[in-house]
Amino acid sequence: MSKVILVLSDALRYDVAKDNMGFLGHLVEKKLASLYKITGELPSMSRPMYETIHTGLPSNEHGIVANSIVRLSTRPNIFQSVRSAGKVTAAAAYYWYSELYNRAPYDRVDDKETDDESLNIQHGRFYTEDEYPDVELFASAAHLVRKFSPDYLLLHPMGMDYFGETYGSDTKEYRNHAVHQDSKLAPFIMEWKERGYIIFVTGDHGINKDGAHGGTTPEQRTVPFFVIQPQGGGRGEVDESISHLQIAPTILKLLNVPIPETMKEKPLDFD
Ligand SMILES: [Zn+2]
Repeated sequence: MSKVILVLSDALRYDVAKDNMGFLGHLVEKKLASLYKITGELPSMSRPMYETIHTGLPSNEHGIVANSIVRLSTRPNIFQSVRSAGKVTAAAAYYWYSELYNRAPYDRVDDKETDDESLNIQHGRFYTEDEYPDVELFASAAHLVRKFSPDYLLLHPMGMDYFGETYGSDTKEYRNHAVHQDSKLAPFIMEWKERGYIIFVTGDHGINKDGAHGGTTPEQRTVPFFVIQPQGGGRGEVDESISHLQIAPTILKLLNVPIPETMKEKPLDFD
């Protein structure tokens, strides 16, 4: 049984991650990690994909079909399943996660720092500004790991989305931020591996040169799925496409938590 960290880098596109994230690329090259490709679910929007990734359901089934839908999730999801199994959940994430799994609407004061075992996200550190520095969020996540050893931690930085939407994807600002995220994550990935975590790095959607996402083009929907296991084994670059819908059942299986019937896709197997 493992513990799991999901690094969900908002708007991290597959090709940009592969070309610019050299530490992750190093692990893949040395077959110490695996890199899969995900053709993302639709619409390639944030809140719908947060819910899709955490429920294993397409947006027409979970009902969060637009960013404007502000309500709690009504479907079985990773946080709820892990907490119900008596395990510890945590997130350093955008406030929409608090709205989906803890309380809606978000209260900037009451909900920002949450330590409450009765909530689905028991240890939450949330932010509301898209330009909130990723390095500050990485430190919050690393602190949660050291302090609470959560069984499941979500780390959700907004930097790629912020630079992509501000400057477009075909810019040094967007590409260089992938370099930045990779280099700032590298020491934490080593620490978390040491602590026995399996780490996934993926995106909710991509982004195009206009700085937009929501549509169906490969730029807007193709994201990476890096798998870093604590014992270090990996398959390198895997010529295999997987689905966003497989992430939730995969995480629950790794945590030895019962997979709800609603999560119908097959969990990934890394052995
Ligand atoms: Zn997003």
